[in-house]
Amino acid sequence: MALRLYNTLSGQVEEFKPLVANHVGIYTCGPTVYDYAHIGNYRTFVFQDILRRHLKYRGYEVRQVMNLTDVDDKIVRNARAAGLGLREYTEQFIDAFNIDRQLLNLETPEVMVRATDQIDDMVKLIQTLQEKGYAYTSEGSVYFRVEKFADYGKLSKIDFSGNRAGARVDNDEYDKADARDFALWKAAKDGEPSWPTPLGDGRPGWHIECSVMSMKYLGETFDIHSGGSDLIFPHHENEIAQSEAATGKPFVRTWLHAEHLMVNGQKMSKSLGNFFTLRDLIARGFKPTAIRYLLASVHFRSPLNFTFEGLHQAQHSIERLRNFRYRLLNERFPAGENPEEQAQVQAQARAAREAFEAALDDNLNTAAALGAIFDLVRDGNTAMDQGRFRDGDRAAFLDTLERWDRIFAVLEDNDYAKLQEFGLLATRETGAGAVPGTAAAAEGGTGKDGSTAVLVEMLSDEEIERRIVEREAARRSRNFARSDGIRAELLEAGVVLEDTKSGTRWKRK
Ligand SMILES: [Zn+2]
Repeated sequence: MALRLYNTLSGQVEEFKPLVANHVGIYTCGPTVYDYAHIGNYRTFVFQDILRRHLKYRGYEVRQVMNLTDVDDKIVRNARAAGLGLREYTEQFIDAFNIDRQLLNLETPEVMVRATDQIDDMVKLIQTLQEKGYAYTSEGSVYFRVEKFADYGKLSKIDFSGNRAGARVDNDEYDKADARDFALWKAAKDGEPSWPTPLGDGRPGWHIECSVMSMKYLGETFDIHSGGSDLIFPHHENEIAQSEAATGKPFVRTWLHAEHLMVNGQKMSKSLGNFFTLRDLIARGFKPTAIRYLLASVHFRSPLNFTFEGLHQAQHSIERLRNFRYRLLNERFPAGENPEEQAQVQAQARAAREAFEAALDDNLNTAAALGAIFDLVRDGNTAMDQGRFRDGDRAAFLDTLERWDRIFAVLEDNDYAKLQEFGLLATRETGAGAVPGTAAAAEGGTGKDGSTAVLVEMLSDEEIERRIVEREAARRSRNFARSDGIRAELLEAGVVLEDTKSGTRWKRK
């Protein structure tokens, strides 16, 4: 089945056809690096990661471009308050974003660019718009003349024919001919960073960045542009206007937008204060892979309601998958053959594979793809428990599981190692407040709820192994009080022991 995607521009699910066979160019509006990104932002980035991984799975060569917005009003204000230069201020959040991406197993886009490294190209595009009569200058700033672009509104489907006054959408503090007009270039203000250019001293508007960086690296017309649904208007509408006015060509063929992450019926956002950073959740003992799983678990066009209960369930679901893989890799199954039974068992592996592939081809239906893999887990476990699963069936099941994980990327149990590598492990000694990017750190050591009691201690693998050896010794000397005590201590630190014939296995909750 061909890949089908919902295109915001056409308002329909369409068969995806790239401009150049087997290649796909994707532009992703990246983060504005004025602070730590919250998990609502990461919902969109996880969706984009699933998209690129599925395209690769289907044989496409992917070229993804992501911008880093490192100049805007908030950044200018915050950098000034912190007494730092723009670069210095934004660097720390770019670093944090790159660590968060690795924790969430987000593949690195082929091109990642800072807006402030592209100022010359932005000036050129603005000059083209001036030459073609789409831009005008007012008090040193340059604006896009929306009235001249007849297709304005084609993405957001907003009808602008009515009351113009009601259409005031941004907070540019400059004089504009029409409320809908937006700044391409903002005149320098005292004490603010600016660039000397032929347009005058100033800095670029946000929208022009994305038009310039996408076309520079992907061409004047490219396959996919994606972002959160809150970017449809005005950001993406303005990108279309600038780009198409300048080139006279269609800008983007397929527009994909992810819906919001919700908290108690409201969009998770910085301005509402109802957000969690990735690090807030890690400091509460949740694994980044569980957060990735949760963010991928609902179809991208449906709002996802964030709850801690949902996150616990995600963690549990991942453990089920990992335990199933552990069984497939380590358990002894009957050898020999039973052609009829084996055909039946292996058909289940094939059916699950076909079902998850079809689900993703169908407008990236991740929820259905998860359903398909849990059918595989259930069927496999049942066959194993009933003695119908044979040695020769392993490969087919592992193959389906591995293929599925090329897209979902949650099976590898390496959260602890990565957190350790990045210095993000909160322990009883350091406290959650020590993890930069958490609400607790921001508030001087206590969380929003005024406590750090949410902290879960994470033991290193070596430490756990050592305790297990100690427990074995206690059991051998029939000191059961001691061995039970060690089990309880490990449980409190989030480690579950399981005694099997071949020794004690452990896993993190
Ligand atoms: Zn953008």
